[in-house]
Amino acid sequence: MQAIFDDYVAAAGLTTDLVNTAPGVWHGEDQLPDDAAVAAFVGAYGLTGEDDLAGVHELRDRLRAVLDLRDPEAIERSASVLVARGLGSVGLEPDERGRLQWIARPGADASLVDRLALVGGIGVLGALRALGPERFRDCASDTCSGVFIDTSRPGRRRYCMPDLCGNRANVAAYRARQKASGGIS
Ligand SMILES: [Zn+2]
Repeated sequence: MQAIFDDYVAAAGLTTDLVNTAPGVWHGEDQLPDDAAVAAFVGAYGLTGEDDLAGVHELRDRLRAVLDLRDPEAIERSASVLVARGLGSVGLEPDERGRLQWIARPGADASLVDRLALVGGIGVLGALRALGPERFRDCASDTCSGVFIDTSRPGRRRYCMPDLCGNRANVAAYRARQKASGGIS
């Protein structure tokens, strides 16, 4: 499956999801604690590869650092280094409307971590060029240290994990309203 290398929105989604598995976002509890967890995570994106837990964790830290940069030139520099790490070839292929599009492919000997670096670079560069640096943001939840790349069309995403952080914030706001109005607690 090559789709993840051809779709910066999907690649940015993987990047956001990977960064937010870090223990720092989960009060110390790593969401990728072992090889099986990594295999399940990358498998959901159609990727497989050899076990390299330390390498995945290290890349995750680097991607987090890139998402924290917020300066477009610095983001571009760092993302280009990530792309170079996994890139095997660049070519031109027609898209579904017959227009030629640049495509990036990982090297035949690129490790899983190298390919993840390429995906991260594609996601970050694509979002930066197509949407702008203001799409790299902190989670709006007070209790969350996650970050995300907002690739939504309106660009109003607020949470790193909308199902989780968004709900948590809604529940907190609801409780606060109940308390303020003297309702049931
Ligand atoms: Zn969050």
